[in-house]
Amino acid sequence: MSFLVIAYMLFALLWWSVLLHKKNNQTYQYQVELYKLDSSKSEIDLLDLEAKFRRQNTMILGESIVFGLMLVLGIYFLYRAYQRVILASQNQKNFLLSITHELKSPLASNKLALQTLSKRKLDNHQQDELIQMGLAENERLSTLVNNLLMSARLDQNYQFHFSNTEINSLIRESIKKIQNKYPERKINIISNGETNVEIEIDQAALDSVISNLLDNAIKYSPNQSAIRVSVKEWKTNIEIEVLDEGIGIDQSERKLIFEQFYRVGNEQTRTSKGTGLGLFICAQIIKAHQGQIKVTNNEPQGSKFTILLPKKQTNA
Ligand code: ADP
Repeated sequence: MSFLVIAYMLFALLWWSVLLHKKNNQTYQYQVELYKLDSSKSEIDLLDLEAKFRRQNTMILGESIVFGLMLVLGIYFLYRAYQRVILASQNQKNFLLSITHELKSPLASNKLALQTLSKRKLDNHQQDELIQMGLAENERLSTLVNNLLMSARLDQNYQFHFSNTEINSLIRESIKKIQNKYPERKINIISNGETNVEIEIDQAALDSVISNLLDNAIKYSPNQSAIRVSVKEWKTNIEIEVLDEGIGIDQSERKLIFEQFYRVGNEQTRTSKGTGLGLFICAQIIKAHQGQIKVTNNEPQGSKFTILLPKKQTNA
């Protein structure tokens, strides 16, 4: 329907322009006839008439082109805004589906674990397995709630508290927490130069960034593959990279993944768990630190997330 309206508007514009051009031609012809009948007019008057006719024709053509272009541009911007609204609503629907699943599954498995523990006589090893499983599910739930809280806070102008922090120790702490959650995964940290570089950051927020990137690196790569974190010091910036050897991210998705609730693929067919909040949180936090975050290919495979952070915050 909207395409019909657009086509009608463009056609009407074309039609009115042609009509105006024809009317201008006719008026000119009448004026020439009148000129011929009036013997008091000179050659200069005819030249004036001609010049006026050409000016008006150029004006009609110019106005039609400008008006047509504005119309096309306006339609283009409207279309883009419309697409963004559609994507946001799709993401929100996906989010509701995934959050329901994310909340239900740890609750269900913890309930099952507790029921088994209370009803059946189990040996120490079995008990320990169930307890570890419960703790891991609890940890997942707590990460999820933290992300929800952080995302809500960021939406409502979260107040960042910047303080001088040794970046390497903060990263090591974040890695330690993730390794408690996934003890089977190996994460290496590589740093060049000084290992105790101090930079001005909000510690809780940056911990959330590193944890989210590591969580994703683990989630989207095979169990045995390596994960690396590298820290490089530049003159005024610190560069942090999180590299995995997983499924990688298609070029066309690299901007979208930083949007709130966006997840690659379809909610019904996707197997990985998540809410599409992690990278949105990372992007918002890095922006608030006057830094940059981007994703590229890792070689020979996987993703490489690169963060650039200024050592000092200007007007923080
Ligand atoms: P999610 O909760 O889905 O992990 P994120 O915002 O953290 O949400 O990530 C958004 C999407 O980006 C994910 O659904 C996933 O498809 C993709 N993604 C994020 N990190 C990686 C990675 N390291 N490797 C491959 N894909 C990734």
